[in-house]
Amino acid sequence: MAIPAAEIRLSQGRLTVAAVNDAFRRAGLDEDRTQTMLMTELAQRIEAFLASDQGSVEFPLQLGDAIDCRYFQATLTRPAEGETGICVLMLVDHTAQHHTERSLRREMTTDSLTGLPNRQGFGDLIESVMATGQRHAVLVIDLNRFGRLNACMGSLVGDELLITVARRVKGALRSRDSIGRIGGNEFGILMMIDGSEDEAHVLAERIDRAMRAPFRLTDYEVNVEASVGIAFNEGPDGDAEELIRHAQFAVKHAKSAGRTEIYHPQAFTIARAQFAMETALRRAIEQDGLHLAYQPICDLSTGKTVAFEALARWCDVDGQNHSPSDFIPVAEESGLIVPLGRWAVHEGLRQLAEWDRAAGGNCGVRLSVNVSAIQLQRDDIPALIESALAGAGISGDRLTLELTESAIVGDPDRVTAIMKAMKALGTTIAMDDFGTGYSSLAYLQKLPIDVLKIDRSFINGMLADRDKIAIVRAILGLAQALGMQTTAEGIEAIELGHTLAALGCTYGQGYFYARPLDPDAAWAMIADQA
Ligand code: C2E
Ligand code: CA
Ligand code: CA
Repeated sequence: MAIPAAEIRLSQGRLTVAAVNDAFRRAGLDEDRTQTMLMTELAQRIEAFLASDQGSVEFPLQLGDAIDCRYFQATLTRPAEGETGICVLMLVDHTAQHHTERSLRREMTTDSLTGLPNRQGFGDLIESVMATGQRHAVLVIDLNRFGRLNACMGSLVGDELLITVARRVKGALRSRDSIGRIGGNEFGILMMIDGSEDEAHVLAERIDRAMRAPFRLTDYEVNVEASVGIAFNEGPDGDAEELIRHAQFAVKHAKSAGRTEIYHPQAFTIARAQFAMETALRRAIEQDGLHLAYQPICDLSTGKTVAFEALARWCDVDGQNHSPSDFIPVAEESGLIVPLGRWAVHEGLRQLAEWDRAAGGNCGVRLSVNVSAIQLQRDDIPALIESALAGAGISGDRLTLELTESAIVGDPDRVTAIMKAMKALGTTIAMDDFGTGYSSLAYLQKLPIDVLKIDRSFINGMLADRDKIAIVRAILGLAQALGMQTTAEGIEAIELGHTLAALGCTYGQGYFYARPLDPDAAWAMIADQA
């Protein structure tokens, strides 16, 4: 709605409203209000405009008090001809639009379930505190296993819990702190820091205590565990979104550590590097960027190569070689170990079949592949092995799976079932890195393990170390008693091989025999002993 402007005269820094029509009066400007702050401001604007040589100027104008306020877009123009020192003020009423925008903004920044600021609104809160220069911290509270509760009991129960949690956390806050819901199961607390950073710990502790009592919902009583991560705002030019991200990073660590964690930039840098590696590794797995190296395993009594252990190798697009000790943990952490492990089984068996074809029949060696504990948990190993063997046309008795002790600790019943299924396929099962994990004689006896691979930390320097010799003897005795074979890892000198053979160790592997080889070099060894 455009209001035809009235004429306002300016004299000595004051406005005199000469003629006013109804529309102008409705806007809240009339003859009686010429001395208000607003009119003074308007007078200054008009004065500046008249003194300038601009043809027109536009600016927003707010008229009225906080309760009854109208919003206008004001335009000052000069009359086409006529007196100098006179201008036309035009007001366009934007009040309705302003209200719509404001309620839209409120909706956009509020979580509809809890009525708390959502991530956007919480970010705005942080920004407004940042602008004041007041020291502050962000705490992120993550409800552990909330997803599971939602799935088991339904989202209505989940919603009720969230509302109750929000209320309880709010009750634990000080009056100057604020709370927002920044994710499905995450709340953010913005707290002012007046003294030391300990204040944040005290608050985290108070929240933790508040969460401990069971939550009585309409139909259920549930216990909720919450983790808390803290990030302090550093320096004057902070970024709200970054501060939230840092606190979320800390809470992720808090979850695995089981205690409140504070964000540390170094940990973040390492995690970022790991994330970059994860992205590159994912691409390498998808685009055939990995290959396998093959390290011989020898029969210590005859010196013949009886098997090759397949070891993953990754040379990235920049030509940089990464050590499996670096990328396997990243693959395990990210779940990429599942496709990586699947690839290794398929590729190793494909290679073995190729050697068989070159040899015109069974080439005389077996293949050993590493299966990570995480892959054992997440993947259907028996189905994978069965289809890979069938695909390559290799019989199960040519394959050994190397598992670590950690694979067994998790879920012994499931692992027992998997191992039995593997035995049914004829596969051999080796316990890798034996002696470094939580061995329990009880499960060793129960599980169908064929081979113990003695970790190279016991073999290395063994000849000069009575304790190591004693441990190796004990492992060899144990294996014998349980009817298992043994492989000594990390044999770097011939004397070690002789001693281990004399002590009754079945197989040996190490740099003395060969480093992990490329397929051609491995084939040369096979062909040589045929
Ligand atoms: P691992 O299964 O214990 O493999 C043996 C490691 O010892 C290999 O390191 C091998 O190069 C090294 N090694 C062999 N002989 C000697 C020796 O005489 N002296 C010394 N100092 N080291 C020797 P690599 O290839 O770097 O692999 C490291 C680990 O990465 C492996 O340890 C295994 O746990 C993991 N890994 C490698 N490939 C795969 C894979 O395809 N899947 C899974 N799940 N893990 C893999
Ligand atoms: Ca191994
Ligand atoms: Ca090993």
